[in-house]
Amino acid sequence: MEALVELGRGVFALRYRFYDQQVGVVVGDDGVAVIDTRSSHRQAQEIQRDLKRITPLPVTVVVNTHGHYDHAFGNRVFRPAPIWGHRRCVTMLEGTGEAQRTTFMAERPDLADDVTAVVIDPPDRTMDADATIDVGGRGLELRYLGRGHTDNDIVVRVPDAGVLFAGDLLENGAPPYFGDAFPMDWPDTVQRLASLVEGAVVPGHGDVGDAAFVAAQLVDLRRIARLAQEVHGGQLGLDDALARAPFPAASAREPLERALAQLRGDMPAA
Ligand SMILES: [Zn+2]
Repeated sequence: MEALVELGRGVFALRYRFYDQQVGVVVGDDGVAVIDTRSSHRQAQEIQRDLKRITPLPVTVVVNTHGHYDHAFGNRVFRPAPIWGHRRCVTMLEGTGEAQRTTFMAERPDLADDVTAVVIDPPDRTMDADATIDVGGRGLELRYLGRGHTDNDIVVRVPDAGVLFAGDLLENGAPPYFGDAFPMDWPDTVQRLASLVEGAVVPGHGDVGDAAFVAAQLVDLRRIARLAQEVHGGQLGLDDALARAPFPAASAREPLERALAQLRGDMPAA
């Protein structure tokens, strides 16, 4: 573990150097919730070890903010705890989990043994819009706010501490990943997220932020959507749009191309 921050009473962000990832922890009276489980059983076991520095209580519930491997491939380690996620998080892990494993292995051949050993174990408790779950006497709100980084992102609100775990709807310090994104929907989703911010906002990757961080990311996401609309409408060439994008050109092509695919109707309607 790279850093441990207590954001409110019994609410922690555990930060890991690998992918600069944030894992959420909420400690209740007799149980603990873990938000996202990292990329392998070995990495999830590291979470378990780090939890011992915070509390002796057992993990009684897990939440996957979405169905990407770096948020869900550690799930198995926390069984028999129930695992919550959006209904389409299950669809994503069942439908693309093996492809994600292949991509991950190609990127990190040094981790091949760990990645091979992963038993993909999707959430067994699902939701479409909202759910409130109990963690040792504390209520956690799970909210689906619309498509964005994927079609199954949920945020986790800890009402009694004013903390919001945003998953990869927000990313701090690096351009967000658009490979499975819905860039035309993402800004409105983050607008709704912004209305839930009371204090600390924990992104899926990078520094813990606040309302100003959310507002800045919203500006970037709106800019991508607007540039795509101008390209789609014929007012702007793709190269000019790339040059005006809020991300470096290498990171801007995928968001614009996926936004254009949405505008052409090549991606499923919400
Ligand atoms: Zn992701």
